[in-house]
Amino acid sequence: MIGNTEKQEFRAQVSAWMSENKPADPGFLLPQSFMEVGSEQQLEFLREWQHKVWSAGYLGIAWPRAYGGQGLDPVFQSIADQEMRRHGVPICFNVIGLGWAGPLINDIGSEADKSRYLKGILSGEDIWCQGFSEPDHGSDLVSVQTRAERDGDSYRVNGTKIWTTLGNFARYMILLARTDPAAPRKYDGLSFFLAPMQSEGIETRPIRKLTGEYGFTETFFTDAQIPASCRMGEEGEGWRIAMRTLMYERAAEAGAAGGLAFVRVVVDDLVDSLRERQRDGAPVLEDPLVRDALVQRIIEEKAILLGERRARIEALASDYPGSLALTHKLRFTESTRRLRQLAVALLGADGGLYVDDPGVPVGGFWQRAYLNSFAATIGGGTSQVQANIIAEQVLGLPR
Ligand SMILES: Cc1cc2nc3c(=O)[nH]c(=O)nc-3n(C[C@H](O)[C@H](O)[C@H](O)COP(=O)(O)OP(=O)(O)OC[C@H]3O[C@@H](n4cnc5c(N)ncnc54)[C@H](O)[C@@H]3O)c2cc1C
Repeated sequence: MIGNTEKQEFRAQVSAWMSENKPADPGFLLPQSFMEVGSEQQLEFLREWQHKVWSAGYLGIAWPRAYGGQGLDPVFQSIADQEMRRHGVPICFNVIGLGWAGPLINDIGSEADKSRYLKGILSGEDIWCQGFSEPDHGSDLVSVQTRAERDGDSYRVNGTKIWTTLGNFARYMILLARTDPAAPRKYDGLSFFLAPMQSEGIETRPIRKLTGEYGFTETFFTDAQIPASCRMGEEGEGWRIAMRTLMYERAAEAGAAGGLAFVRVVVDDLVDSLRERQRDGAPVLEDPLVRDALVQRIIEEKAILLGERRARIEALASDYPGSLALTHKLRFTESTRRLRQLAVALLGADGGLYVDDPGVPVGGFWQRAYLNSFAATIGGGTSQVQANIIAEQVLGLPR
């Protein structure tokens, strides 16, 4: 059990470091989450920041020392993350590595995998992406068609993945591909790979988002050769490993290396940006309907924070393991979207302006934040699919 004094001292130390090292505004637009890294300029800035946070000892705190971590209790990572959030520092962008590929390798990878991959994930040197979704198979992941055929010491891969976050920058991909199309059950025909992206026959094409930003790609495999040694688990075990990966992605399984994945915006931020705003000749914040709407958002925000705390108390979280985390993804992403939607609505006609438009309030922050908020309600499983999972796995309702 870690004592309160030790925790407080650590918090003070992180806080001092963040105050001293928070980078100055770079003068160009930074991504609001790891899903919007679109330019080399943004990438280099974020890579340098992540490397600095890791070098200071505030990333991968609970990962083993032998692989670049510190082998300490995860509570220290929670404290470091809270301080990062409080200081409003930039994100640690390599989230697929830090959040799900890394924990997966840490838990079920071979020693060779751990030595080869984990440190590069923490330092930001090796960027990871995820090749699960395909043009016709997103929620219906079990139907993926990308084919991996054994060819001596390697696999020949053909097919198309889509919505590959960081795909054009990544060095490695966690790839789900079909090795046995004849398997009677679709689940049994899939295998899982830690695939190098710089292989001949892999091509990425960036996709432009509604916000004008980039961040993900279409990824084409044309007779790409992936060494057989990159397969994780046995042939046919891909589905089990992919489902495990999604448990990390949906935060229902611990092990993430920490760091901020996105800029968190709270009701107080909205209230601050509305202080000077008028509507029908009176301050917006004095409108009882607006106050009502803000109170609703505050209630949701508090409930989510309490849920996060509850998830850390074993006695309160152990009856239905994973249930709090599974519900958290749905509640948090939808609540974030509703807050940003309210912000844009309260801007009235100005809500129709965008980032570069003259006279746009707060540099178009809220409009961009609202449009980007849909990313998290879709990525990692849509809200509808997440609701199905909660219904079946937590509430025990029939399929
Ligand atoms: C910003 C962003 C980043 C992403 N990054 C990655 C990435 O790095 N790697 C990757 O592999 N994928 C990534 N994705 C893809 C994401 O996982 C898929 O978009 C998601 O799983 C949904 O799949 P789909 O787009 O094919 O939609 P569909 O599965 O076609 O769904 C369409 C609609 O039908 C609904 N629906 C589907 N099935 C059901 C059901 N059974 N019950 C109720 N409703 C249902 C959905 O909720 C949705 O509203 C990303 C997506 C976004 C938006």
